[in-house]
Amino acid sequence: MMCVKQPTYEITGRIDRFDERDTVFARETLVTGAREEIDYHKRNPHLKEIDTELSRFITDKMDRSGATWGRVYYQTGFSSIAHLGLPDCVDGLPSPGGFDLTKDRNTELVRNLAHYLGADLVNMGPLKPEWVYSHRGTRPFFDDQPENLPLFEGMPEGYTGRLWGDAIEIGHANAISLGFAQNLDLLRAGPSEASDLEIGRVYAKSALVACQLASFIRSMGYPARAHHVRNYCVLAVPVAVDAGMGELARSGHLLHKTYGLNLRLSTVTTDLPLNQDQPVDDGIQAFCERCLKCARTCPVAAIPAGDKTVVRGVRKWQIDPERCLGYWSRVGAACVICQTVCPWSKPPSLFHKTVAHIASRASWMTRALVYGDDLFYGKRYESKKEPGWMCRSRVDIPR
Ligand code: SF4
Ligand code: SF4
Repeated sequence: MMCVKQPTYEITGRIDRFDERDTVFARETLVTGAREEIDYHKRNPHLKEIDTELSRFITDKMDRSGATWGRVYYQTGFSSIAHLGLPDCVDGLPSPGGFDLTKDRNTELVRNLAHYLGADLVNMGPLKPEWVYSHRGTRPFFDDQPENLPLFEGMPEGYTGRLWGDAIEIGHANAISLGFAQNLDLLRAGPSEASDLEIGRVYAKSALVACQLASFIRSMGYPARAHHVRNYCVLAVPVAVDAGMGELARSGHLLHKTYGLNLRLSTVTTDLPLNQDQPVDDGIQAFCERCLKCARTCPVAAIPAGDKTVVRGVRKWQIDPERCLGYWSRVGAACVICQTVCPWSKPPSLFHKTVAHIASRASWMTRALVYGDDLFYGKRYESKKEPGWMCRSRVDIPR
């Protein structure tokens, strides 16, 4: 790992903050006829048709009117995460008094606690204002949806970004990025119930650890807010890049030298004094230039095979999120093909770590390494069998 002064993404001009309402994950949750949906599509009529299509995926997955294995396994992983997204889970008031430790001691304590709670990777960096969403675009609370009425004890003082469309302001100095590895065997059975279950399991773990860590820091007397898949106010990937966890890859994910793309992220932002990690240059930009395995394997060509483009002030590879999510809708499961085929996404064995070390230092070997990966793991993506206990249970359906 080579630490550098600046992250390896390229800033070309002013970075406009991203409105969470414009993400596909926010748009897929819009409910036809609700205030939010009418408001959004009045301003973006060209997106109405595609958003209606995208919403079918999440609507079907969370449907409780009839059991299918696709719904059952998805809801097992994801349904309880929504509760961890409630305002008094992600945020709250710092305890009066608290502890006044040194920056070094805070850093050591928080890092060790986060690992103990279950994070595979823990990095600390700055919270740059440009990576804070400008407006709330997802749950927990939409108007016109009685099931989303507050279920929590109380609204933390100063809590912002509660309702869809609310402006978001988070002024914390530090961001703690948490990385969680997924079980590659279950992922490689995807897109299927098996990969949905594994994604949900790891997202739930990432949400719980972020909430626990934020609570710990508030108990120490400092403000802290958890950000996770059911309540983000920050863009987790660039925040993690700034904290030195990895680099921004062609597929749009964070790429870590050992885990590759096989990670789910959550974040805790805080004013607790912490030592910040330096960004890294692991040779990922040069590798992604020549590799292209995710781009050629994506079933809907959602990952660009060409050059980087400038998006809101950052030069990067920009995936086509509508194509990607449209594919999920069609196959009825979250796709993880790009995450699993990436040559860096391997179990962290000594062999893989050695190859990753070579890959990060010798970009001229990229094509040979990708050729070797194709030979060993396959040039095309073929999903593996689900674990036996899942397959056997399938004989029971449908009821
Ligand atoms: S998740 Fe699947 S559809 Fe989406 S970009 Fe990756 S490979 Fe393509
Ligand atoms: S598959 Fe290749 S191009 Fe895609 S993210 Fe991984 S290293 Fe980069």
